[in-house]
Amino acid sequence: MKKFGILGKNISYTFSPILHKNIFEVYNIDAEYNIYDVKESEIPDILEKIKTNTIHGINVTVPYKTTIIKFLDELSPEAKSMNAVNCIKLENGKLKGYNTDYFGLIETFKKMGLLLKNKKVVILGSGGAAKAVNRAILDLGGIPAIVSRDLDKAKLEFKDISVISYNDLLETSGFLLVNATPIGTFPNIESSPVKRQVIQNFDFVLDLIYNPKETLFLKIAKQCFKKFENGFYMLVSQGVKSEEIWNDLTLDYSLIYENLITEIYNNQEDFQS
Ligand code: NAP
Repeated sequence: MKKFGILGKNISYTFSPILHKNIFEVYNIDAEYNIYDVKESEIPDILEKIKTNTIHGINVTVPYKTTIIKFLDELSPEAKSMNAVNCIKLENGKLKGYNTDYFGLIETFKKMGLLLKNKKVVILGSGGAAKAVNRAILDLGGIPAIVSRDLDKAKLEFKDISVISYNDLLETSGFLLVNATPIGTFPNIESSPVKRQVIQNFDFVLDLIYNPKETLFLKIAKQCFKKFENGFYMLVSQGVKSEEIWNDLTLDYSLIYENLITEIYNNQEDFQS
């Protein structure tokens, strides 16, 4: 039996074991998926288990997506460009880090039917998720812009693209608006990162938040008759991509999404990646 898992801190609510168990069932993979809720000092022990094939692949989540990099031998192009890793595999005796959030976003844009070449995409927030959106948009030929509360800090992180303030945003329109801030996440479901005045100026709206299913941000988008999507497809897709990497398989993203969406939104009050 193969062993996989997720490495992070205070991650007891993680949804990942449910997701990966579903993939194992559907594709008849003889494997288990465990939670490694560890202190930073324990990370080398876990990585040693990958090197000795006791663990066959791990996901990485908060707060270790960047701190893990110093322990790895190689990075895939998207992980290198974002300076963040959420999936590790042993390849030719070397620990290699990937970023499957990036692939989860690409799959989400496909699900939404978006052709992003030369299209303006405005990203709210300048954290890890914003970096993944920025990388994916650039690679798809789109034109990203970051909205930040702290322009100086954000301009240091996003050097070659437009960085604007929330005031500038009031005068901005575009193709796609992405919420990559935590504003609106359970239990603070009464807040939205921006008002209707902003949302109405975009054709499509994506909230990376998946809990609640429909954030206030998305409720406003719906009222404005915009096509919208929440972060659940991205969440599922980053896990499916991890399994593809670990097992050298091609999997059906929509099938796993359909298997999980009803179960999750009917049964879970609170969950995280
Ligand atoms: P993060 O690193 O903490 O960054 C979030 C960014 O949001 C910050 O850099 C900040 O940008 C902005 N922000 C934070 N607090 C804010 C506030 N009170 N008001 C306005 N802006 C605020 O978080 P992250 O890892 O990027 O995640 C962001 C969201 O994406 C979370 O809700 C997370 O759950 C979600 N996410 C979803 C998936 C998925 O699979 N669906 C994957 C990753 C993340 P400025 O300081 O520049 O304003």
